[in-house]
Amino acid sequence: MDRIEMLDLNAEDFSLRDQINKAIETVVERGDFINGLSVKSFRKELESYLNVPHIIPCGNGTDALQISIMALDLPPGGEIITPAFSYAATAEVIKLLGYKPVFVDVDPNTFNLDPNLIVPAITENTCAVMPVHLYGQCADMNAILKIAANHNLKVIEDAAQAIGAGMEIYGKGRIAAGAIGDIGGFSFFPSKNLGAYGDGGAIVTKSEELAVYAHSIANHGQTKQYIHKYVGVNSRLDSIQAAILSVKLTALSQKVERRKQIAQLYNEAFASNEKLAIPERSKGIEHVYHQYTLRTKGINRDEIVDLLDKNNISARIYYPTPLHLQTAYVENGSSAVKKLHFPNAELLAETVFSIPVHPALTDEQVNYIIETINKICSDR
Ligand SMILES: *Cc1c(COP(=O)(O)O)cnc(C)c1O
Repeated sequence: MDRIEMLDLNAEDFSLRDQINKAIETVVERGDFINGLSVKSFRKELESYLNVPHIIPCGNGTDALQISIMALDLPPGGEIITPAFSYAATAEVIKLLGYKPVFVDVDPNTFNLDPNLIVPAITENTCAVMPVHLYGQCADMNAILKIAANHNLKVIEDAAQAIGAGMEIYGKGRIAAGAIGDIGGFSFFPSKNLGAYGDGGAIVTKSEELAVYAHSIANHGQTKQYIHKYVGVNSRLDSIQAAILSVKLTALSQKVERRKQIAQLYNEAFASNEKLAIPERSKGIEHVYHQYTLRTKGINRDEIVDLLDKNNISARIYYPTPLHLQTAYVENGSSAVKKLHFPNAELLAETVFSIPVHPALTDEQVNYIIETINKICSDR
């Protein structure tokens, strides 16, 4: 068996290759590299695909989150509640803008922010909550929206890993991840479910007012050309990237279906493996399996990842250090001060590992991964 990587973008995009090359060529011929036609059409296509009223393309997912927060005009120094277990970008933008990330623990089975822990973390300075739809599964947004409404908090969704996911929101029907709260961000980093051939991102919101404001912030705070009403940033999606994303968007549903299919095979194969916990699915909450992530039980995670590597299977650890233990985010910025303790985030950092779930995997590769993992576990 040839080595199985976490990603195989060549194989994934193989059938789209001609269309993508043509799309790039069209932009090159037109020469509208910045804010070109392809950016406008991608924006419309994504709005219609996700059934959301407003998409604002921007430079990358981190910018999308930063601009989302900026557009809310939160009180200076306010506290934003966010999970201790995520990619650093979530906490980074909060702190960069002068707000305080207030970490709460996650549910050890869904890996997402535990809504029960939000209320105890609320203080008079709390202004927002920023859930992350980790690995592609929506956080429990019904519970989060209810708490936010009761405590007058804004909701910013880090939907970087969850494009195309969604969930039933009480009384409102199905809403796409990212557009459930006030505002949210997607990433088109090449490895994401909808990946560009470089950096890219988008802000998503149901609010026209926030959309206009966020669009202006992303363009140097301009309201008209050379009229700068706000201090903004320069964060644009390149026309070439937009043209590529438009082609790739046409294949997204199909690719997500394949991810779900593979995840289902994994779930069935590992459900009775006592050394592993499969990712828990909450009822009514969609999962687009950006990652398929398992947790080891009573066996050494690093040893498993090592053995998979020796058997020609790539596996990755997302994420080996929780945010509350990162030097940049330790309270007062110093690791010497008393550390916060979030047992579930710490447990996950020591026990999770993600295995290939990309849509170009063949059934044969999936079976090889299943057999290898079950064998490694039964030998322990
Ligand atoms: C990828 C990612 C981001 C950042 O996206 P970039 O496009 O790399 O800036 C933010 N949050 C999470 C959870 C991510 O996975």
